[in-house]
This record gives sequence, C-alpha cells and structure tokens, in this order.
Amino acid sequence: MEKILEVNDLHVTFSTYGGTVKAVRGVNFHLNKGETLAIVGESGCGKSVASNAIMRLIPDPPGKISGGSILFNGRDLTKLSDKEMRRIRGVDISMIFQDPMTALNPTLTIGSQLMEGLRQHHKISSDHAKKKALEMMDLVGIPNPEERLKQYPHQFSGGMRQRIVIAMALICEPELLIADEPTTALDVTIQAQILELFEKIQAGTGVSIILITHDLGVVAKIADRIAVMYAGKIIEVGTKREIFYEQEHPYTKGLLKSVPRLDLKGEKLTPIDGTPPDLFSPPQGCPFTARCPMAMEVCDKVYPFSSELSDTHHVDCWLQDERAKQLLAEAAAK
Ligand code: SF4
Repeated sequence: MEKILEVNDLHVTFSTYGGTVKAVRGVNFHLNKGETLAIVGESGCGKSVASNAIMRLIPDPPGKISGGSILFNGRDLTKLSDKEMRRIRGVDISMIFQDPMTALNPTLTIGSQLMEGLRQHHKISSDHAKKKALEMMDLVGIPNPEERLKQYPHQFSGGMRQRIVIAMALICEPELLIADEPTTALDVTIQAQILELFEKIQAGTGVSIILITHDLGVVAKIADRIAVMYAGKIIEVGTKREIFYEQEHPYTKGLLKSVPRLDLKGEKLTPIDGTPPDLFSPPQGCPFTARCPMAMEVCDKVYPFSSELSDTHHVDCWLQDERAKQLLAEAAAK
C-alpha cells in the first residue's frame, strides 16, 4: 500500500516554568492512502500534540518539535518554512477540531467562512466559490443550502455546525484529514450521523483520515487501524481486529476492559488504577510500570523493544520477550 504519511521518531517538548514537558517521545506511525488510522489514549497522552505537530500548529515557544521527521508524500514537513506550510495547511492537509462552536467565527456568515479557505488558496471567482460551497453543503447533508449559506453559526444546531466544520475542512479537497475528537462535543445520535458522514466522504473522495479520540466506540465504527498512545509513546498498533480481539499490551487490555459493553450486561467495569506518569520526568523504562499488573523488574529500568506480532501488529512490552514468555509458561504449568 502507498504511504501518504510517515512519522518517524517524533519528539515534541514544551518549556515551562516548572521544567520541560516531554509530551511526545519518539513516536513512529504511518498512514496508507485512503485509510483511517485512529490514535487512541487517555487525556494528556500526547495524541493531540502529535496531530498538531503534523499540521505544524505547535506554538513555538513554548512548544517545539525537538526531533524526528514527518514525511507527507515524501516531503519532510518539519523542514518546511512557515510560508510553505501555509500552502499545505487547509489545501493538502486539513484539520477538524473538537468543538464546532469555537471553530466557527460567530460574526461571519457560514457562506463567507466556507468560501474563505477556497478563495485564499485558489484564485477562483466568487460564483465558482459559491457553487463549490453549495456542493460541499450538499455533501455533508445540510438541507436548503442556498438559504443556510447566508446564516450565522448560532442559527445552526451542534450537529449541523460540525457538518459545516467538516465541509470547511474538505472544501479544498485535501489528501489528508486530521479529525481531533470530532464527535466529543455532540450527543450520541448526532455522533452516529457524523461518523456515517465520515464513511460516506471517505468512500466518495478517497481522503486519508487520522482520527484522534479517547472513545473506543468511535474507533470500532470507522477505523481501519488503531494506534494506542500512552505517556507520549505509541505502545501498540494494529488493525482494528488485532486491537479489539488480539491485543497484547496490558494497557490496551485495561482500556478495553474499562469500556461498557452491551454483551457483558451486569458485569462490572474494571478501571485502570493509578495515574499516568509525570511527563516532566518520564520514566526511562516502560511508562505503564506503576499501573501494570504484570510488571517485572526490568520494566521500569529499560524501555521494551517493539515486537512485531504480524506485519500490521506491533507492541512495546517486555511480556513479548522469549524469557518472559518462558517464565509465564512455567508459572502456568505449576
Ligand atoms: Fe507491563 Fe512491563 Fe509490559 Fe510495561 S513492559 S506493559 S510494565 S509488562
């Protein structure tokens, strides 16, 4: 499969009065053309920081991409000037933010906001821009688009505003769409509609999608592959099937056990005890050691190597080491 994006050993830090926060610590992942990769993890695990780094939206200072590369169609985005990056942002790569109300300007009509990006990046007439805006409103399922184009954000419901934000992100026909918690601010029925819309748009346009979320229900619906992040690192990555049914990392297992399931009615949810480590001084070993029921002596001393369980399934955990497997097998046999 052709890769559209390759993130290699990405590091992002923030300098604060209290010290340097190592928010993203050597992250590696790729995205194939036309696929949806979900990046999941708890708040503060670095998933939004990693996606903002792809857009080069890390405020510098205090933030900084302190290492690694981000290859988009073979071009390293970390090496581009601000001017070159402005040409890519919104045209080749677009982003949808969490809260549709703050993503829209309340003082401008929906039409002018929809057409702004188009007219800024492409020299087209206002008639052509309007035609394109109407097409996009139709694509995202806004009824009476001619009328709605003249209205302001407050005249739209939350779900409709999110549809507008999606239309804005897609109007320049980007190759890569980054959606950061796109359904978190919406109620459940609207969430389902927006997820269906993502599927429809991807089938129609072939856009590649990175979906940032903490919601495994969202992931189950639309992701092809899933990367699980913890304390600034990707600790397990695999296809949707591998992560939901063959997950190996104790954190991924814990994450899945803490999600309510209809087929396990009456069973108690199991929370993951403890809190993630302090990213001012992250542990040198596995960052999950303090919360992990399977932790061994080596875990907090040395970070585990990445084990390849299949072409698509990789996990960073000492339990995959042959010596640990042997010890577990011996313990089970006793
Ligand atoms: Fe648990 Fe050790 Fe695996 Fe980390 S490396 S998840 S502490 S067993």
